[in-house]
Amino acid sequence: MSEKKGLPRVDLPADARLETLAVREGLPPSQWGENSEALFLTSCFVHPDARTAARRFAYEEDAFVYSRFSNPNVTIMERRLAALEGTTGCIGTSSGMGAILLMVMGLLKAGDHVICSRSVFGATIRLLQGEFGKFGVESTFVSQTDLAQWKAALKPNTRLLFAETPTNPMTEVCDIRALADMAHDAGALLAVDNCMCSPALQQPVKFGADIVMHSGTKFLDGQGRINAGALCAPEAMVEEKFVPVMRSAGMSLSPFNAWIVSKGMETLNLRVRAQSDRALALARWLESHPAVDRVFHPGLPSHPQHELAMRQQDGHGGAVLAFNVKGGRDQAFAVVDATRICSIAANFGDVRSIITHPASTTHGRLTEEQRNAAGIGQNMIRLGVGLEDVEDLKVDLARGLDALSA
Ligand SMILES: *Cc1c(COP(=O)(O)O)cnc(C)c1O
Repeated sequence: MSEKKGLPRVDLPADARLETLAVREGLPPSQWGENSEALFLTSCFVHPDARTAARRFAYEEDAFVYSRFSNPNVTIMERRLAALEGTTGCIGTSSGMGAILLMVMGLLKAGDHVICSRSVFGATIRLLQGEFGKFGVESTFVSQTDLAQWKAALKPNTRLLFAETPTNPMTEVCDIRALADMAHDAGALLAVDNCMCSPALQQPVKFGADIVMHSGTKFLDGQGRINAGALCAPEAMVEEKFVPVMRSAGMSLSPFNAWIVSKGMETLNLRVRAQSDRALALARWLESHPAVDRVFHPGLPSHPQHELAMRQQDGHGGAVLAFNVKGGRDQAFAVVDATRICSIAANFGDVRSIITHPASTTHGRLTEEQRNAAGIGQNMIRLGVGLEDVEDLKVDLARGLDALSA
């Protein structure tokens, strides 16, 4: 947000709370007084004279210049998300993966070392190990929940710990406070992928995280319309480490997509809590179904990190659950194929419930060994629970499950 720091602010009370900020934070309206944010579909901005243009390009005056690195819709989205995450800065990106790319490019160089949970999003593992491995950034992958493994992996050149909590699809929860302390003692930073909870349920900065990474594709949009991402961090880090990379590398958030995410955030808190309640009701029901071997949802007392999750996630398990059917891939496919309401797709955070077979889709590019290490078997099904009536969702899943146990 560097060239936008001095731009006018929305006139809000200093102590405005989360739901107010989600609806109101952004930029003041234009001279036309629109109540809903206007769309600024323009690739560049016009300056009154050459001298002003020169000052603005040199960062001596705050203004919008060129939409690869500054646009009002992107600024609105960044300010709103920063307010929700409790950070002073935020930078929007083209996708969640674009945000991780920007983070690593901005913070690390060849010879640096990253520690990451081996249960994180499949593309994150590929990006760190495959792409950044090529450029000499080394990564070690450890158990999500075993702090001793994180500690043992620390090296003098460790610069970044990267965690995702809960993980997708296993819903393993890690202790953000403990990892933040460990990172800081080692002179490293902790980044947390907060896609699964969103700031409605969990604000990693409160527990000591330095950077919060988002895929706006998930709950922030909330209606499955666009790809977007963001990094929330202290403003100085955003300006010094991320804005220069964005200016030259261009993983920019499109103004239209930023607008969608900004409108999505207005209803984030209501949606995520309602979807999380439905997910818990389904998880309880699935746990008692004879065709189900195991259910993964942090809201269940049977979840290994239930207590920690309830402390860290404002008493909510989140809207994503996974379950193992008795049997293998054929049985899992049969349950997926018997649904008529759930969408067979690979996303979550949508108001439409989405059913996924992780081993053959989201985690299909991992080796069988990597998948097994992450606990993702061929009999696992993930459900991104939406806003449909929970009784209808039970019927939708029971169609395939009842046939298996018959
Ligand atoms: C979807 C997702 C990402 C990647 O986000 P995109 O917007 O699809 O690039 C990263 N982490 C998690 C946990 C995700 O669910």
